[in-house]
Amino acid sequence: DLIGIVAPGQAVPRYYSLASGTRDGFVEICVRRMPGGVCSSHLHALQAGDSVQAFIRSNPGFVLPAGRAPVLLIGAGTGVAPLAGFIRDNTRHRPMHLYYGARHPERDFYFGTELPSWQADGRLAGLHTTFSRTPGGGYVQEILRRDATQVLALIAQGALVRVCGSRAMAQGVAQVLDALLGPQGQSLAQLKEQGRYAEDLF
Ligand SMILES: Cc1cc2nc3c(=O)[nH]c(=O)nc-3n(C[C@H](O)[C@H](O)[C@H](O)COP(=O)(O)OP(=O)(O)OC[C@H]3O[C@@H](n4cnc5c(N)ncnc54)[C@H](O)[C@@H]3O)c2cc1C
Repeated sequence: DLIGIVAPGQAVPRYYSLASGTRDGFVEICVRRMPGGVCSSHLHALQAGDSVQAFIRSNPGFVLPAGRAPVLLIGAGTGVAPLAGFIRDNTRHRPMHLYYGARHPERDFYFGTELPSWQADGRLAGLHTTFSRTPGGGYVQEILRRDATQVLALIAQGALVRVCGSRAMAQGVAQVLDALLGPQGQSLAQLKEQGRYAEDLF
C-alpha cells in the first residue's frame, strides 16, 4: 500500500510506497530527497517526536497473493522499500529472489543491514545487487540479463514478478525480460494477464 503525506501548507499529498504492513506496528518508508522538493525536504527535516499529516491508500494492483510459487522481486533505489516489506513478511520462507540496483553501497544501499539477515534466516532465498557508480557496476536489468538462466527457471516454475522504482528502470527491465521470454514462446503481456507481473512506479 501507499502512504499519502501532506506537507505543511500543501493541498496535494505526495505518495510513498510502504515497506511496512499493518502487522508490523510501525510505518516505514524510504524517501529520496529531491532538490527543492516540498514533501521530501519536509520529511528529511523531521526530528524524533515530530508528527506528519498522512493517510493510507491501498494499492491493490501490487499485492502478493499467498502461495508457494517463487517470487522475483526487482527494484532500484527507494523502489526497494515495498519489496523489502514482502521479504520481511515472508516468515513462511516462500522462495523470494531480489534483484536490486543502487548507486553506491555506502550511499543508497537501503535495507543493506536487513537484507543479509533476512537471507540468513531464510526469508530471502537470493540477493543480487549491482551498484552503478562503482567500478564494474551497472543497472539492475543488466544483472537480470546476466542471470538469464536462473530468471527463466523461476518464471518456468510459475514465479510472480514484482517491479518497483522509476519508470525508466521498469522499461529497461521489461525490455530485458521480454527479450528473454520471447524465444520461450512467452511474453510479459501474458504474465501481466495472468496477474504474475505487476509494477509500482514513480
Ligand atoms: C505511486 C507512487 C509511489 C511513490 N513512492 C515513492 C517512494 O517510495 N520513495 C520516494 O522517495 N518517492 C516516491 N514517490 C515520489 C513522491 O511521491 C514524490 O513525488 C517525491 O518525493 C517528490 O516530492 P516533493 O514534494 O519532494 O517534490 P516536488 O515539490 O513535488 O517537486 C518534484 C521535483 O520537481 C522540482 N520542481 C518543483 N516545482 C518546480 C517548478 N516549478 N519548476 C521546476 N522544477 C520544479 C523540484 O525541485 C523537485 O526536484 C512515489 C510516487 C508515486 C506516484
